Amino acid sequence: MATRDALTDLTNWNLLDERLGGAIRKVDAEGGNLGLIYIDLDQFKNINDAFGHEVGDEVIKLAAMRIMTCVGENDLVARVGGDEFHILMSGILTTDEPASLAEDLLVALSSPYVIEDREIFSSASIGVGTYPAQANSKSEFLRNVDNAANYAKRDGRANYKSYTPQMSKEVHRRVGIGHQLRRALENDELSLNYQAKINLSTQQIIGAEALLRWHSEDLGFVSPEEFIPIAEETGLIVPIGEWVLATACKQATEWRSTAGQPIHVAVNLSALQFLHGDLVKKVASSLDASGLDPAHLDLELTESLLVERPDETIRILNHFKSMGISISMDDFGTGYSSLSYLTRFPLDSLKVDRAFVTNLPDDRDAVVVVNAIVGMAKELNLNIVAEGIETERQMEFLHGLGCHTGQGYLFFKPITNDAFMQILTAKAAEQRPHP
Ligand code: C2E
Ligand code: MG
Ligand code: MG
Repeated sequence: MATRDALTDLTNWNLLDERLGGAIRKVDAEGGNLGLIYIDLDQFKNINDAFGHEVGDEVIKLAAMRIMTCVGENDLVARVGGDEFHILMSGILTTDEPASLAEDLLVALSSPYVIEDREIFSSASIGVGTYPAQANSKSEFLRNVDNAANYAKRDGRANYKSYTPQMSKEVHRRVGIGHQLRRALENDELSLNYQAKINLSTQQIIGAEALLRWHSEDLGFVSPEEFIPIAEETGLIVPIGEWVLATACKQATEWRSTAGQPIHVAVNLSALQFLHGDLVKKVASSLDASGLDPAHLDLELTESLLVERPDETIRILNHFKSMGISISMDDFGTGYSSLSYLTRFPLDSLKVDRAFVTNLPDDRDAVVVVNAIVGMAKELNLNIVAEGIETERQMEFLHGLGCHTGQGYLFFKPITNDAFMQILTAKAAEQRPHP
């Protein structure tokens, strides 16, 4: 009992740990190589949630059998967690052998499981490492394959990654960022830039998107593309997002008088902010405290939110709508693209992702995709915003298709609130009739 996993009859963690220790001592004394593979089934939690634990258990048992069909007689297979397995390969001759086994495992674990006449789809993310070439100790060896599997997951799952020292460096950096980010709010290291949104027919500024900036005392300037995913993983995006909302609403209240007309402010929201209570209250209190008209606030969200928690999200979005706030779908076309969802959500705008705009108008695929998005948005009565417009040609093409609003370096880069206000002042002066 102390060495076997009851469900699969595989070796359990205790025995694997012991055998790994022994194998390392042997290699240290006599030479040779070890391979270690870490397998994590993708989205296994969803299988459990959707079909129940019995079906989940069945998937684990079948996965264990499939793994056993791939391995050789010198390989020790262990189940080390709910949906996690390790394979210890002793006596390997080349360091390519673990990678080649990982490839076989991927194939074996990606065909659907048939359980009670249902097909259940799954796949695996796999990390691969070798000893002594890539690790100095047992704990480092284990950590490395774990890291590599995380990379495989982040790279879209259903693949394997061989450990590289670069991975450890990046993990270090991520941990460092998470650490420093905790202090960013209290140290006053965060600020907002604003990027104008342009009416493509009149070329006037109609709004601006708040984009978070972080200048860390220790790390210097860190890109939001790097720190926002970490803020999401660590949950820090919840207090940070609250600060963004409050600050953007406060700064935007001054725009109206400067510009002489209403200028909308758009704030990006992360999925986590929807899950962690009181988003409606927080938005309401940001509006109250600033005095911003709700009709001038736009919230940008991404597709993943709609897929993961549709009912709860619809409830919250309807609440926002009833307050007069508008809702945009950001980065449209890059995520899950479950088009059927679109009709269920109370959206006002779709933001066509920069990835498509960049390739306009010469890339045929981009043209087809953007055409389809714009056509659909029109049918659904949604406003279309094109992100990342950098050239006149892109702008003309998009405007020609019926895209109303544009954003991009062609017009303005994200700039500080002061710089944005200066532009509004200058534009307002241009508009005033000359005496
Ligand atoms: P996003 O919301 O899609 O924002 C647009 C990004 O594209 C911004 O990058 C902007 O600087 C960049 N961009 C705009 N026009 C152009 C262009 O013409 N060419 C090019 N090459 N890039 C352009 P940024 O500021 O680095 O932000 C990256 C992402 O970080 C944002 O993508 C958004 O997803 C996230 N983000 C930024 N601020 C916040 C925030 O306050 N809260 C949350 N949750 N996410 C944020
Ligand atoms: Mg955005
Ligand atoms: Mg975007």
